[in-house]
Amino acid sequence: MKKCSKYNLPEKYETIEFNKQNVCNICLSNDFKNENINWDERKKTI
Ligand SMILES: [Zn+2]
Repeated sequence: MKKCSKYNLPEKYETIEFNKQNVCNICLSNDFKNENINWDERKKTI
């Protein structure tokens, strides 16, 4: 089983895909969500 290099956890999703850095699409989408949250926080502070 492949392991995601992002969080070093075994990924068990069937739809998982790894990019060239061995980061799975699920972690990438999590990062994307986190970035969106950070942007929202920034908007509040401005
Ligand atoms: Zn991952």
